[in-house]
Amino acid sequence: MSIFIGGAWAYANGSLHLGHISSLLPGDILARYYRLKGEKVLYVSGSDCNGTPITIRAKQEGVSPKEIADRYHEEFVECFSRMGFSYDLYTRTDIEYHHKVVQEIFLKLLEKGLIYKKAVEQTYCEHCEQFLPDRFVEGYCPICREPARGDQCDSCSAILEPLELLERKCKICGHSPISKYTEHFYFSLHSLQSLLENYTKEAETKKLWRENAIALTKRYLKEGLLDRAVTRDLPIGVRVPVAGYEDKKIYVWIEAVSGYYSASKQWAEKTGNDDSIYWDTNVKSYYIHGKDNIPFHTIIWPGILVGIGKETLPTHIVSNEFLTLEKKKLSTSKNWALWVPDLLQRYDPDSIRYFLTINAPENRDADFSWKEFIYSHNSELLGAYGNFVNRTLKFIQKSFDNVVPNQKVNPEVVEKIIRLYNEVGHCIETTAFKQGLEKVFEVVRYSNKYFDEKQPWNQLRENIESCKQTMSDCVYLIVNLANILSPFLPFSSKKVKEMLRIPEIAGNQFI
Ligand SMILES: [Zn+2]
Ligand SMILES: [Zn+2]
Repeated sequence: MSIFIGGAWAYANGSLHLGHISSLLPGDILARYYRLKGEKVLYVSGSDCNGTPITIRAKQEGVSPKEIADRYHEEFVECFSRMGFSYDLYTRTDIEYHHKVVQEIFLKLLEKGLIYKKAVEQTYCEHCEQFLPDRFVEGYCPICREPARGDQCDSCSAILEPLELLERKCKICGHSPISKYTEHFYFSLHSLQSLLENYTKEAETKKLWRENAIALTKRYLKEGLLDRAVTRDLPIGVRVPVAGYEDKKIYVWIEAVSGYYSASKQWAEKTGNDDSIYWDTNVKSYYIHGKDNIPFHTIIWPGILVGIGKETLPTHIVSNEFLTLEKKKLSTSKNWALWVPDLLQRYDPDSIRYFLTINAPENRDADFSWKEFIYSHNSELLGAYGNFVNRTLKFIQKSFDNVVPNQKVNPEVVEKIIRLYNEVGHCIETTAFKQGLEKVFEVVRYSNKYFDEKQPWNQLRENIESCKQTMSDCVYLIVNLANILSPFLPFSSKKVKEMLRIPEIAGNQFI
């Protein structure tokens, strides 16, 4: 069995905030876990450097889109690495390699008849003398009447075309755009309707997707899939590889998600490995993103994979709900966010990872508050786990001259640990990360209680053998807790293993 893990592509138009990390962290937990288990793992992602938000930011700052993309891509690489994200490849979508693969995919879909040409009306700003990209058109959602952008309504999740918006305005100059005819390429989603219905039904039966992904995908399918334009008149992006249409760009709809495939090819070429094992039928694939990205992963990406003849559609959709900050929605534009670079200056990455997992917005929105963050760090991480490690090693240092007593471990303790490996492994594989981490901390509490009840300070005076037994048991617990926690808390696990001089071993730890 090989494991493919795809992390969503963050727009390189601003710093990462805690919401990004909260929705992407499950990918790293999965990757670390499966590597420990000895499976073949490919974990990829990258920065979206072609999206319209980058053009908007560049216009605002009066610099080139490339300058914006470079700045934030570099910052993302730094943040992910300091947060411990163990991508096999973290790339970007403005490199030639990605463009080439996307163009190949486009041509294959065209050849299959899944992409076709059509003359359409589009929003055109006479004042700016250009066709407007979807996100450059703003107005009100025709369904819920809330303010919306030309591609999607954030309030009711409806997928929109710019011309459907009410009271349209050009985002650049504020004038009302007109509609004008132009030719574009369309993705024939309606022809995939029944295939995607069966696919979704199977995922629902096997409970492989988050509930929000099932619900939203079923809603789109019930409304009936509509063909969508997959090219745009944009200044940057992947050129349409068809004569006469070179000025048009392949739209992010199919371009960004194709990054999973292009990244795997790029990784294979770079490392001399074979990436085809991650695209055949014997693969488990996990796609990690926030709930606003669901249709790209449950409709568009499977549609593309079918079109290019790959049989493995995404198996697991890990679409987290949102993280709020002190009960308010995170917003880059309103500057209501916790920026990851700031946070990393003040806090240990494992404290952040712990909080974001134990409070993960897995099935409903979750809230970040400073009070909770500090409390969870002090009471659980330091108070329970840190304390258990500390008191055990201190005791051994003081009473046994820093040599770990070597007794046969109490079978009750061994059984507890074996059960924990099984349970936590099952939780991670079924993407119930929060529950998995809770189970580990139940055993952390058990360990502290074990220490307390054995009273090694009395045993030391009364019965040295039983004291050695207790210390052996406690060290056994520490080593295995550190191992089981390493997908969640890689930095502190490494520290504990170093203290005990235990080498990092891959394979057969998780069963
Ligand atoms: Zn709406
Ligand atoms: Zn305009």
